[in-house]
Amino acid sequence: MFWDSEEDIFRWVECRVSRYYWLGYMSDAIESSVRSGLGGLEVHDFFVDQFAVLQDLKKMLVEGSSCIPDCKALCCYFSRDHSTQIPISTDEFEVLRDIVSGWGGNFEDYYSMVPADRISVELLDYLKSSRNFFFDVNGVRMVCLLSSSDRLIDASLLWDLPKSVKRFRRLWADKDSCACRFLDQNNRCVLYDRLRFTVCSEFYCLPVIVVMVLRHLGFVDEGFLGLSLREINLVSNSIAESFRVNKLLGLEREFDSKFRELAIAYVNGGDVGKRFSELKDFERQYADLLRVRVGLKLSCL
Ligand code: SF4
Ligand code: SF4
Repeated sequence: MFWDSEEDIFRWVECRVSRYYWLGYMSDAIESSVRSGLGGLEVHDFFVDQFAVLQDLKKMLVEGSSCIPDCKALCCYFSRDHSTQIPISTDEFEVLRDIVSGWGGNFEDYYSMVPADRISVELLDYLKSSRNFFFDVNGVRMVCLLSSSDRLIDASLLWDLPKSVKRFRRLWADKDSCACRFLDQNNRCVLYDRLRFTVCSEFYCLPVIVVMVLRHLGFVDEGFLGLSLREINLVSNSIAESFRVNKLLGLEREFDSKFRELAIAYVNGGDVGKRFSELKDFERQYADLLRVRVGLKLSCL
């Protein structure tokens, strides 16, 4: 059941973020409409406010620098085979070489080169979006994967494994997983100040995304920062359930389509007065429901 509700909340986030892209695409047309006296200033300002919120949201998701909860870095544990290890790009490879040489370490101990046709189809698809992940070694296309250390995961942590966004499955770690070589005993990444691998900085588990977005939108306060991943997991499950029960994804989609219709009418010089007041009414009711539902869940803590 949570699978569906977590998917709902993630689609809700996606819907909001895609509106940002769309609004970015429309922004020149919106600005030239107001300059030529088409559309009302009130409607124009509404678009500008929305644009700012959505731009911030995307920035936070893309550039958010670290995780919120007090987590033991569960996403930094990997199997010893090649199935879940971190791939690094050709540029990152060179920077890492410098760092490891500065430490006096033997660079070859830190990675292994694996023929691209031996990695999973899923990972290969992800890497294909950038040619930088492929190395040519004697004419063979290879991928560079970081080696894990020999430090086994503390099995008690597996009870708190969060889900990942992809297919809403639990993270890949299991009782045989070992810490990344760059994870210290305090569960901090020793590289993070000097080098953030693309794959590492792009990854957030599902509960963290849920809470980051809600925090950004003002539903979650700073008190959340000290919660454990177990607590965050519980809250995000319950928020996701609330999204499902209250059909908030449906409301978000309805808002999104009214919003786009208004913007299109605005740039085409159509009559926006009625559409705008309907949208604002809808937004008020929807925002109240969102606030109450999410607020209720948070106050249960
Ligand atoms: S993304 Fe999730 S699992 Fe990884 S460190 Fe952050 S909270 Fe922990
Ligand atoms: S490089 Fe750092 S952030 Fe990436 S998996 Fe290793 S310890 Fe985690």
